[in-house]
Amino acid sequence: MKKIVLLVVVLLLLSCTKKQEEGQVFEETMMVMGTIVTVSLYGEDEKRAQKLFHDLLKDFKYMQAAWNPWKKGSLARINQMIPYQEAFSIGPVVKDMVLQATELSKQSEGYFNPAIGQLIKLWGFNKEKLPTGPPPTADQIKAILDKNAQMEDLSFSVLNLKSSNPDVLLDFGAFAKGFGVDRAIEYLKSMEVKNAIINAGGDLRAIGKKGDKPWMIGIRDPRAQAVIAGVSIQGDESVFTSGDYERFYEYEGKRYHHILNPKTGKPADTVRSVTIIHSSAAIADAAATALFVAGPDNWQRIAKKMGIDKVMLIDQQGVIHLTPAIKPRLEFEREGLDIRVAKTFQ
Ligand code: ADP
Ligand code: MG
Repeated sequence: MKKIVLLVVVLLLLSCTKKQEEGQVFEETMMVMGTIVTVSLYGEDEKRAQKLFHDLLKDFKYMQAAWNPWKKGSLARINQMIPYQEAFSIGPVVKDMVLQATELSKQSEGYFNPAIGQLIKLWGFNKEKLPTGPPPTADQIKAILDKNAQMEDLSFSVLNLKSSNPDVLLDFGAFAKGFGVDRAIEYLKSMEVKNAIINAGGDLRAIGKKGDKPWMIGIRDPRAQAVIAGVSIQGDESVFTSGDYERFYEYEGKRYHHILNPKTGKPADTVRSVTIIHSSAAIADAAATALFVAGPDNWQRIAKKMGIDKVMLIDQQGVIHLTPAIKPRLEFEREGLDIRVAKTFQ
């Protein structure tokens, strides 16, 4: 009898420790993809969490090296080959990336255009250290716009890529983070992980829950070091924001930031930030950039074309434009905000 009681006690204790482990969130921070990536895991034991962190760090390091257009790697090599206008072979993952980016660029009417690397370079946003001198001249910008670099200039035959335009220069700065986060979540899912967040500098994809509670995340106020609204994640969702506060330089009192309008060749200046909620991180990333550039007049049309229904766009006057589908998902932190729900959006 005593033995049985002891056994029950031991079993109870064991199940308690197990419960405690399940209830713990393991978190790891990595400096990769040009930003701080935080991985949170729920429902894993510590040993498995450490292995997953280790694998993800390796994958992110690989992606960072492969997809940087400005440092030696597969994307830089592609950019080196494009001007020859002859077919050359590329890897299957980069091919997927080019294909998905081309589709999204088309849907966005070219507001999201990763072929504009020459323009990014002209403005100096390819460098870690941003310029201190004057912005490019109108003539310099026009010379590049005249070359009309588009993703549609690229064509594939199996794994061979060819460009019909020698001035295409690929820069996936608006897309690689989302594409990489999707790859990382796919890896976690393949390892049977049910509950996780991969947060890359405030942009993230989350799956599952934190126990019986949903994952809660905050969206940054574009004009304050504060959260403007909270979102609770439902199932498998990505939340991505593009803002004019992320990377910029000032010259003679004017701010020049890193999201360019491919039609004018200059920083897009009608919006402070755009936040997208969507199942795919890659699509959310590209769409946040596209709608940022499209601005208050065009964002609804482009969102529909890109298959996005959850948008928050904060314009330069501070007006918060919402789609009906995102409204019930946001919990604003302050009173007195000018919030308008887009009526025409279906
Ligand atoms: P974040 O820096 O918050 O990730 P984005 O996702 O909007 O912001 O990406 C901005 C980066 O994308 C820029 O640094 C540049 O490399 C590139 N880029 C800028 N404008 C465009 C555009 N219109 N289309 C595609 N890529 C762009
Ligand atoms: Mg983006």
